[in-house]
This record gives sequence, structure tokens and C-alpha cells, in this order.
Amino acid sequence: MSGEPQTVGVIGGGVAGLTAAYRLLQKGYRIHLFEAGPQLGGLVRTFEIGGEPIECFYHHLFSTDTAAIRLIGEMGLGDRLTWRPSKVGIFYGGRTYPFVTPLDLLRFTPVSVIDRVRLGLMGLYLRRQRDGSRFEGVTAKEWVRRFAGQRNLDVVWGPLLRGKFGELSDQLVMTWLWNKIHLRFASRGAGPAQREVLGYLLGSFGAWIDALIGRIRELGGTLEAGRPVQRIVSEGGRAGVELDGERTVFFDAVVATVANKIFRRIAPPLPDDYAAKLEGVPYQDALCLVLTLKKPLSSIYWLNINDRSMPFLALIEHTNLIEPERYGGQHVLYVSNYLDKQSPLLKMSTDEICDLYLPHFRRINPDFDEGWINNRWLFHGPDAQPVFTVGAGARIPEHRTPAPGLYLANMSQIYPQDRGQNYSIVLGETIAETVAADLSRAGAARYQV
Ligand SMILES: Cc1cc2nc3c(=O)[nH]c(=O)nc-3n(C[C@H](O)[C@H](O)[C@H](O)COP(=O)(O)OP(=O)(O)OC[C@H]3O[C@@H](n4cnc5c(N)ncnc54)[C@H](O)[C@@H]3O)c2cc1C
Repeated sequence: MSGEPQTVGVIGGGVAGLTAAYRLLQKGYRIHLFEAGPQLGGLVRTFEIGGEPIECFYHHLFSTDTAAIRLIGEMGLGDRLTWRPSKVGIFYGGRTYPFVTPLDLLRFTPVSVIDRVRLGLMGLYLRRQRDGSRFEGVTAKEWVRRFAGQRNLDVVWGPLLRGKFGELSDQLVMTWLWNKIHLRFASRGAGPAQREVLGYLLGSFGAWIDALIGRIRELGGTLEAGRPVQRIVSEGGRAGVELDGERTVFFDAVVATVANKIFRRIAPPLPDDYAAKLEGVPYQDALCLVLTLKKPLSSIYWLNINDRSMPFLALIEHTNLIEPERYGGQHVLYVSNYLDKQSPLLKMSTDEICDLYLPHFRRINPDFDEGWINNRWLFHGPDAQPVFTVGAGARIPEHRTPAPGLYLANMSQIYPQDRGQNYSIVLGETIAETVAADLSRAGAARYQV
């Protein structure tokens, strides 16, 4: 580039926005990022327990999350990334069953031996399928029912999918599940035990976000939290952002990393077919109660609650992956729910949520006593989980929007991958490449005129 650097506005200060900003700065563009919330980091934001930063929403990595592992290394934090055996379980019929290895599957007595074999075969079959497009026309639940039977759907897969997608799990497309099973197998070790390890960044994943923020500032990028973009403007072939009560700031390109629904609200008028794609991916909100306990609730890290009479979907006992000593000797438990925007739980106070959830803890550990609780926090993540329904592949909005100079890079576009830091990093890097290619082409065309 020659003369004044071209400018890019970035909307959203989560993993995708920060990664895009960093890569564009490295390519020589001038960057201004706007984040609505008071803190940068998006869904990887943190708070402190016993003086140690920790995620508001539980986080770990799989060994297949290569982009995240690479970027954490690039931030100089590779030696803080630790890998630990995962301890996953299913709570069903008043009992906790370990659910990690093929042997655990064989011991899962709530379904018959024949059904256990069918479950195992389902995993093996999906693992071998290389092309997921054949699953586009069917819901995951229907496919599982046909392949593994109604009992396996009712007891195992139905509740597992509900744990991730809430009430919308009925509509989830099979392609998503195929991809997920593929990746989970790929992240396991070889051999009959097939042990899975999970990665955690000691000091929290907020540490790599902080390092990234430091690099962006060193390169001269401007990052503003507490600055919601009210409207995106498209005028004379350029895109600009309108902030509260201020004039519009124009850029050579604008990259939005916000959820589809927010984008639709703040974007300039868009053609019907693109607007329809923005409406085509529903989202769920995340609601996480975090408790610090004097004693562990269980020995499991990730406990899926496959019992529909319980008002939460999973218990993630962080200190069964990372030692409690880091948090002043306290045990950290996340109680997870994914909810529709209309759910009454989203309107409840922390006390009301505790009143609803805590009576069920004794079913998991009969010794549990509310006196074990040291502290509690409630975190709400709006639009935290896109749900890919049948035909989703045809409804993914393109990164280049129909408005000149305006780009979209959000979690709805990682299909069929599962949402995660890794894919938001890939998203940020992809959009940086796309914008840079378009801007350098536009710059060259101007030069020739
Ligand atoms: C409960 C839960 C558990 C998870 N577990 C894991 C895990 O184990 N491992 C893993 O890798 N990932 C996990 N994730 C996913 C991971 O956190 C996300 O994939 C990733 O952080 C998404 O980053 P993003 O930048 O794409 O989106 P976001 O983090 O949502 O960033 C978008 C940003 O845009 C901002 N914004 C919205 N409107 C405006 C506006 N008008 N103007 C300016 N800014 C705006 C928002 O405030 C937000 O900060 C989890 C997420 C949740 C909710």
C-alpha cells in the first residue's frame, strides 16, 4: 500500500472481531473496533475467583482446535496451555454414568445391550462418512431414531442435543451432529481406551485475549468498549458506522461480527434474499450460574443431565479439570442452560435461579448442603448459540454482503462446525483475507484510473 493506510471499522470485540482487527493491522490497515459491552472478549469474558481470572462461561479446547492452539502460541502463551483427560458423565435415572470410552458405553445399563451396540455402531458409521452433505435433509433426532432406535434417542442423544440446543434441538440438522462426532473421534487418542484430552489455558482464556488486545494496541489499532454501533450506513459505495448521538464515521470497509439478528437491525436495507438468510438461523441464549463450593459436587468435569425433570442441562465442574488450589481451594461449578428468548428463566434473579436449581443437587450428591456454597454469579449470553436447522447449508449468509464495503463474519457462518473460539479465530482470519483482497483490488483499480 502507498500513501495513507486504508481504514477498516470492526463491530464487535469478541474473538472474531479482535482476530480480524489484528490480522488486518498486520497487513497495514488502520483499524477502529467498536464493542457494545463494557469489556472486550465477547463470550470469552472473565471475572475473578479467589484472585484468579476465570471465564463467565465454561471453556476448554479440543486437540483438533488447531487455529486456537496456533494463535495462543503466537501470543507467547503456549506453555500455559495444559491438556487433561476429560471426565464426562451422563446423569440418568438418579445415577451418574461415566461416558468417555467405549467401555463406558458397554456399561451404560439404562439401555439394552442391543441398543448399546447400536449406539457404538452409530459412532463408528458416522466417523467413516467423509461427506456430510448427505445429512442435510434430515433432523438429527430423526436420523438417530432410525439408525439407533427410539430408546437411544430418548435416553442418550435426545437429552444430549437438548443440552446444547434447548427446545430447538428438535429441528437440528443431522449434518451438524455428523461433523461433531467426526471431530470428537479425531480429538481422541489411539488405542482401545480412546482417551480424550481437553485443553485449558492456565490463568483463563482471557489471558490470550488480553495478549491479543496488547498486540493490537502496539500496532496502533483503536479499541473502544462501551461503544455500541447504532446503525451501519451505506453511502456512495462506502460503509460507515453511526454511534450514539455522533456523526457517522466512514471506512474503506466495515466488518460486523455480531449475531444475524443484531446485524439485520443495524445494517442498511439489504435485498430480500440476503435478509432471508439472516432470519434463517435461530439462536439460543446461554444462562450460566457459577457457584464456588467448599466441597466438590461430583468427580465428573462435564455432567450431561439427561433427566428432563431437572431444570438445567449440564453441570460443568471446572475444578475437576483444573485444580481448586488456583481458586483459593474452592470448587467451581457452572450450571448451564440454553434458552429461548421467551424463557421465564431469563427474567429471574440469581436468588430465584438458585431456588429453582439447588433442590436438585441432592439427587446428584445426597450429601450436598447449601452451606457448601461460598459465592454465586449469574451470567447471561444473548444469542450465544446458533441452531442449524434442516437445509441450513443453503441459508448461510455470505461474508461479502450486498452493501458495498460491508462484511459479515459471525458464528452462524461456521456451519457445520460447532461454535467455539477456534472457529471464531478462523472466521476472523478469513474475513481479514477477504477484506484485504477486495481493498487491494479496489486500490489498484483506482490507481489505474
Ligand atoms: C456457555 C458457553 C460455553 C462455551 N464453551 C466453549 C468452549 O468450551 N470452548 C470454546 O472454544 N468455545 C466455547 N464457547 C464459544 C466461544 O465463546 C465463542 O465461539 C466465541 O467466543 C465467539 O466469538 P465471536 O467473536 O464470534 O462472538 P461474540 O463473542 O458473541 O462477540 C460478538 C461481540 O459483538 C458485540 N456486539 C453486539 N452488538 C453490538 C453493537 N451493536 N455494536 C458493537 N458491538 C456489538 C457483543 O457484545 C460481543 O462482544 C462457549 C460459549 C458459551 C456461551
